[in-house]
Amino acid sequence: MSKEKIWLSSPHMGGTELKYIHDAFDQNWIAPLGPNVNGFENDIKKYLDPEGSEGIEVAALSSGTAALHLSLIQLGVGPEDEVICQSMTFAASANPIMYLGAKPIFIDSERDTLNICPEQLEIAIKDRISKGKKPKAIIAVHLYGMPYKVDEIEAISKKYEIPIIEDSAEALGSTYKNRNCGTLGDYSVLSFNGNKIITTSGGGALVIKSFEQKQKTVFLATQARDDAPHYQHSEIGYNYRLSNISAGIGRGQMEVLDKRVEARRNMFQFYVNLFHTEAGVEVHEEPSDDFFSNHWLTVIEVNEEKTNGVSREDLRKCLEEENIESRPLWKPMHMQPVFKRFPFYGKGVAENIFKNGLCLPSGSNLTDNDRDRLKKAILNCLKK
Ligand SMILES: *Cc1c(COP(=O)(O)O)cnc(C)c1O
Repeated sequence: MSKEKIWLSSPHMGGTELKYIHDAFDQNWIAPLGPNVNGFENDIKKYLDPEGSEGIEVAALSSGTAALHLSLIQLGVGPEDEVICQSMTFAASANPIMYLGAKPIFIDSERDTLNICPEQLEIAIKDRISKGKKPKAIIAVHLYGMPYKVDEIEAISKKYEIPIIEDSAEALGSTYKNRNCGTLGDYSVLSFNGNKIITTSGGGALVIKSFEQKQKTVFLATQARDDAPHYQHSEIGYNYRLSNISAGIGRGQMEVLDKRVEARRNMFQFYVNLFHTEAGVEVHEEPSDDFFSNHWLTVIEVNEEKTNGVSREDLRKCLEEENIESRPLWKPMHMQPVFKRFPFYGKGVAENIFKNGLCLPSGSNLTDNDRDRLKKAILNCLKK
């Protein structure tokens, strides 16, 4: 009998999601608006800003990509503008720059968090300014749930007066110096796609700093209709609002978010313990107590000189034979065929982690039995 697949990260329902969906059916709110959309926005707002001291607002959208797109639009990004973007990330961070005909400028990672390198960022900004163009925005990503170096990046953003779009798609539940990821940018992006820490099947949100910005975001996300009885438009709009059905799933998921974070962090600890005694495999940890990662995915780096020649690819293929999914890290954008013609500032850090890094199954729904299988398979694969 073939073994059941162990996924990298799969949806994990909490139990009350269907109640919210039934409410939507009972009241016939089968639309991209309704009580679940408003309720979900409030749930996120309370989670990210329980005291109301940050003054944030949340707009629920159809995807994290849509949230990135609407951020860039509201920052006035257009054709020929330059936008800085962390190179090591999922393509969704960079694609919306292209939707607007703007030009991405890619920045290397630093070793501690694998996120945007403050040094290379400043070098790039200075160079772009000296070439006659100040970048319009900085897209910084908390990869795999690990916060980027927030203080350093904020200082550069302030110094050069370039706003930050915080791509927190992978980092709901993470914090930096006790500040919640998802509130740390001028615009902050969340995703609820199927493999994220919580999911609405597909969905996202934009976190903004004022009610006016929320109104503007919702306006753009609902076809930019002017205030008139007929359909009148003075701006180009988008169909980016979250459905009331999906938002119902989101309401149920928000009830269990803390448990999901705890379970993912336990998976991380499982790997720390497992690899403790294995030479040549390093688990990627928080660099200091300032960083609290939701550990959406646990990342390891394999050094084949110390593993008796077992490479990252050897390990990945060996796990695949056991029906266990694992995946190399995001291939940096500056190495992607579609983006390689754009400027890149860096020193090969992202390239190196891409070569040796592997994401391991990290789902909150993995069982003791799954962990036994993982342990046996991994130890077996490393014994060559
Ligand atoms: C998932 C993800 C996105 C995009 O979110 P979608 O909801 O899938 O559009 C953006 N950036 C990062 C880093 C992601 O992981």
